[in-house]
Amino acid sequence: MEPLLYLGSLAVIFLLWIKVKGLDYVIVHQRWIFVCLFLLPLSVLFDVYYYMRAWIIFKMCSAPKKHDQRVRDIQRQVREWKKEGSKTRMCTGRPGWLTVSLRVGKYKKTHKNIMINLMDILEVDTERQVVRVEPLANMGQVTACLNSVGWTLPVLPELDDLTVGGLVMGTGIESSSHIYGLFQHICVAYELVLADGSLVRCTEEENSDLFHAVPWSCGTLGFLVAAEIKIIPAKPWVKLHYEPVRGLENICRRFTEASENKQNAFVEGIQYSENTAVIMTGTMTDHAEPDKVNRIGLHFKPWFFKHVESYLNKDRSGVEYIPLRQYYHRHTRSIFWELQVHTEHTQLLDAFLFFFLTS
Ligand SMILES: Cc1cc2nc3c(=O)[nH]c(=O)nc-3n(C[C@H](O)[C@H](O)[C@H](O)COP(=O)(O)OP(=O)(O)OC[C@H]3O[C@@H](n4cnc5c(N)ncnc54)[C@H](O)[C@@H]3O)c2cc1C
Repeated sequence: MEPLLYLGSLAVIFLLWIKVKGLDYVIVHQRWIFVCLFLLPLSVLFDVYYYMRAWIIFKMCSAPKKHDQRVRDIQRQVREWKKEGSKTRMCTGRPGWLTVSLRVGKYKKTHKNIMINLMDILEVDTERQVVRVEPLANMGQVTACLNSVGWTLPVLPELDDLTVGGLVMGTGIESSSHIYGLFQHICVAYELVLADGSLVRCTEEENSDLFHAVPWSCGTLGFLVAAEIKIIPAKPWVKLHYEPVRGLENICRRFTEASENKQNAFVEGIQYSENTAVIMTGTMTDHAEPDKVNRIGLHFKPWFFKHVESYLNKDRSGVEYIPLRQYYHRHTRSIFWELQVHTEHTQLLDAFLFFFLTS
């Protein structure tokens, strides 16, 4: 009974405090309360739902059948818009809070929202070495599916929530881009619903003008409904070499050298001040030296950029073996260093984040 009374009193004091200060003040100045009590638990539930759904659909192979039906629904919405006289412009109906960008697109309120419910991995074709995916499939889903069957995307942008549609229509890059280019450079075909409601496929050979115009077009040419992307064989570990470098010229020189060496499957540099950085180079490997394994994705591990900084602080190079999927999503927990900026001076939030933000 006592703990309940204690919790009840705390809740009353908390509500009184909100009443005195005002909800706006609490949300703006004490946002950790909202983040810890609501946002994080909801995010965890949402992630669990999303991964379970992707896993079940992938295992049961039921998505391709529904794909055509869902695309027809998008065509119907576009044709309706045309029939109604094309009064406003169209945009994807995906709400701003679901995207990675912090910008809230006000145009979503005034434009005709076309609902695109396409979030599945349709087919992994290991003969052609291509995966066919829907535009809302995200990088977390893609690595969960592909890496588990021994394949991966040559360019796999770090954050779990980045979607194929956003990466094609916006932009995407990864520490393997010195070999394979940007995200669009590994795409071999796009399927789009155009403004007249027609469905077109474009590749290097077929409708090639459209194929080359789609990347970075931000949805202005049509709605992406599927993309075919190259895949390459994956190995379970990344052998990562950390090298602290000092002096701007040295940093540029070492980064250029590392990028020019195509033996390096991954090259990344994190700069901590004008004159200090850590350059990382990595290769995929089948085996790991047990004493050098670092499972950076575990919830109790430090944020990746903090871990990298420790090499700079100790002024020593080092080698570690990181599970491939954890390497890809190394910046997901901390969104690079963004979470630190949001949570500075908030020790309680740090503790909560520490607990909740597992990869
Ligand atoms: C905090 C932050 C971290 C980032 N980190 C990385 C990173 O680690 N690596 C990296 O490569 N990039 C990164 N980016 C850039 C990011 O890849 C791009 O901003 C990308 O466009 C975001 O994709 P999204 O899935 O959030 O898509 P959205 O923001 O929803 O879409 C991006 C654009 O594509 C259009 N679009 C989306 N789907 C469709 C569709 N089906 N049909 C037509 N048009 C469509 C949208 O209208 C919009 O114009 C980051 C961006 C931010 C804000």
